[in-house]
Amino acid sequence: RLQRLRERLIRSNNVLGKGLLALLSSDRIDENVWDEVEEALLLADIGTEPSLELVETLKDRVKVMGSRNPEEVRSMLREELVKLVDPTLDRSLNVDRKGGKPAVVLIVGVNGVGKTTTVGKLARVLVAEDKDVLLGAADTFRAAAAEQLATWGARVGVPTVKSDIEGADPASVAFEAVKAGIEQEADVVMVDTAGRLQNKVGLMDELGKVKRVIEKLAEVDEVLLVLDATTGQNGLNQAKVFSEVVRITGIVLTKLDGTAKGGIVVAIQKQLGVPVKLVGLGEGPDDLAPFDVEGFVDAILN
Ligand code: GDP
Repeated sequence: RLQRLRERLIRSNNVLGKGLLALLSSDRIDENVWDEVEEALLLADIGTEPSLELVETLKDRVKVMGSRNPEEVRSMLREELVKLVDPTLDRSLNVDRKGGKPAVVLIVGVNGVGKTTTVGKLARVLVAEDKDVLLGAADTFRAAAAEQLATWGARVGVPTVKSDIEGADPASVAFEAVKAGIEQEADVVMVDTAGRLQNKVGLMDELGKVKRVIEKLAEVDEVLLVLDATTGQNGLNQAKVFSEVVRITGIVLTKLDGTAKGGIVVAIQKQLGVPVKLVGLGEGPDDLAPFDVEGFVDAILN
């Protein structure tokens, strides 16, 4: 699976990789080249400060080594990128039953980032691990959202708890889903939520309430924030807003198949201290993979 992720990321339209490769293939790595490396990192959304720091570190290392061999410089860049993405973070998912109750996973994020799709794909991964999964459609705001989730449920063979009433209280749907999960001795209950960021106060109230109501029944084990990689730094602002409402335990970075802006991983982890745990690589049911630091950096560099 990781190998596949690696290959697919490398195949993906990775402008940054091609740029860096060309830049560091030059025999004369001078100030201009460093400027362009920095620009390439910025374009990939690695963020101003980390990009500057990385280039400074590289320059220093090149100076100390006295080496301008492009191969060596590339391998130094690789090492520094791996450090930046932080290979020490725990990226595992908390999806085991605990205290005789299912694990509860809350999926949050702005509309259109790929929340519902992610729930479907993740359900499929969990089912493949022999887990009994139940979905809760707490995005009651959009009429089509619950239907879309149920379609995904049917597709991957798991039941969906939803309300037939449009605009039903999201917290009560979440409550019913977790209650059903407990009764049916499910392993994992995954709750999809709405994401109307344009109404921040409403969103905070709603999400906070969903979480509180679930916690009357069971612990919330994972709160996964779904971010669209193609929105770059915008995703960071979304992450900040959501992290003010709930404690985010991990990020799912979607649409990484169509962008060279995956560097946002660095910025998010640095600013929020939350690891990217999963990545979305397409619209199909198998297009979700665990985030792999080495593969990610290879993809940036190749
Ligand atoms: P939600 O509003 O956050 O629930 O977003 P949806 O799950 O409805 O997804 C919005 C659109 O993004 C849909 O057309 C999905 O097929 C698409 N999408 C979701 N994840 C990915 C991904 O990883 N890659 C690509 N290319 N498209 C994705």
